[in-house]
This record gives sequence, C-alpha cells and structure tokens, in this order.
Amino acid sequence: MARRRAAGQPPEPLGSVSQPSGPLVEGTETCVKCGETSLTRIRMTLTDGRPAVFVSCPSCEQTNWFAFDGGGVPLDRSEVLGS
Ligand SMILES: [Zn+2]
Repeated sequence: MARRRAAGQPPEPLGSVSQPSGPLVEGTETCVKCGETSLTRIRMTLTDGRPAVFVSCPSCEQTNWFAFDGGGVPLDRSEVLGS
C-alpha cells in the first residue's frame, strides 16, 4: 500500500466534508489529560517514516504524538525520537 503524503488530505468519499481541516487523527480530538479541545496540532513524520500528529494543549501543556493509524494511543517518546 502506498504511503500517504503528509501534506495531502486522506481520500474522503464525496459529501462527507465536515471539517475544513480534514478529519482529525484518532486521539487528537481532545487533550488526554484535561479534555481541552482547542489543541495545537502539527502534522509531522516520524523517524521511521510514519505520518503522525504532534498535539500540544494550551491549558495544561500536555504534549503527545499520535500516529495516523495508531488507534488513539499516544506514541512513546522513544518511538518518536527513534531511539
Ligand atoms: Zn490539557
């Protein structure tokens, strides 16, 4: 299967547009710590090439990384840093 381009939008069926920024990656909708929804979300690529989203909470300063296909489970720091 071809890897998605980080800058592109994932394919979506026509008529399902609900958010201008595209669907959120599972786990990035709300802060895992305090439930804040106005999070800073930055798309990035992990050292192993997987697309992921870095999430930063403005309320409690919690930060997490989530892989696009990670099922909402935050990545371990060692996965992100590749060490
Ligand atoms: Zn928070």
